[in-house]
Amino acid sequence: MRTTHYTVLAGGTGAAKFLRGLVQIVPEDQIHVVVNVGDDTDIWGLHVSPDIDSITYALSGKLDTDRGWGVRDETFRCLEAIEAYGMPSWFRLGDRDLATHLTRTHLLRSGLTLSETVDRMAKAAGVKARVLPASDDPVRTKIETPGGVLGFQEFFVREQWKPEVRSVAYAGAAEARAPAAVLDSIREAQIVIIAPSNPITSVGPILAIHDIREALRCARAEVVAISPLIGDSAVSGPAAKLMEACGYDVSPEGVARCYHDILDNIVIDVSDAGFAASIRYETIGVQVTNILMTNEKAARELAEFVIHENSIAAG
Ligand code: GDP
Repeated sequence: MRTTHYTVLAGGTGAAKFLRGLVQIVPEDQIHVVVNVGDDTDIWGLHVSPDIDSITYALSGKLDTDRGWGVRDETFRCLEAIEAYGMPSWFRLGDRDLATHLTRTHLLRSGLTLSETVDRMAKAAGVKARVLPASDDPVRTKIETPGGVLGFQEFFVREQWKPEVRSVAYAGAAEARAPAAVLDSIREAQIVIIAPSNPITSVGPILAIHDIREALRCARAEVVAISPLIGDSAVSGPAAKLMEACGYDVSPEGVARCYHDILDNIVIDVSDAGFAASIRYETIGVQVTNILMTNEKAARELAEFVIHENSIAAG
């Protein structure tokens, strides 16, 4: 017997906000989250997975929702001690967060795949949703700037996304495979939701994995994206700057175009209703509501809307 589930493609902050709404609408064990690994990096020899951690912390209630990343009530004693050695400390590793990276790195070195590691750690944290890395193979987002090519964390955290962006690449994506669990999750989903995440650096690396894009093209469920842009601005972060650098219109229409071959519907803000006609012209359905998640109630209302509007194709 097939079990009902909803599959969410996710980055970090925007996706974490949306998931905190979605868990109020559908049972958590019916949620699968396919998470970006393009932000993953090596810090102090540790495997750091920023988006996987944001999602897992959000679902386990540990996320610092003010900052949008890391653990609530965090301390930085270890980082302070590292600073005292005169070492670089631009990547803000909290003490409890460090335990996550130590555990992940230890499990990976003991021979587990990233998927097995993430599954074990999410379950231990009490998460009932399935957290699925988009790939067990390394896929790394590279940002080309006038000063050279930067890893995503170097661009985003160390350089505070100030450098001019010439191009964005997903190293390793062409050879990367998606785990079978990810492909099954997409194929069997009741609805596939692309979270309001950065289309270039959060969703882009997921869609750059050939198997995943194919599975989405063939999905029997509705595939719906929530715009991370309202008007010509991202709610937070560098999505607008990166979309422009990659040649997309900085608008909900540009977001629809990023996903044109896989999307059935896009959810845009009421203030952007004027874009509906031109998006529909691209044969993508448009669903209009308030998409700014200022609190948990707004996130719940958005999740409720998305589930309600897209619950027609369920088998
Ligand atoms: P990152 O890895 O932390 O950048 O994670 P994401 O890509 O998931 O989150 C950043 C994206 O979420 C940005 O493009 C924001 O514009 C978007 N975002 C953040 N908050 C909201 C919100 O309340 N509503 C919508 N629609 N998008 C949001």
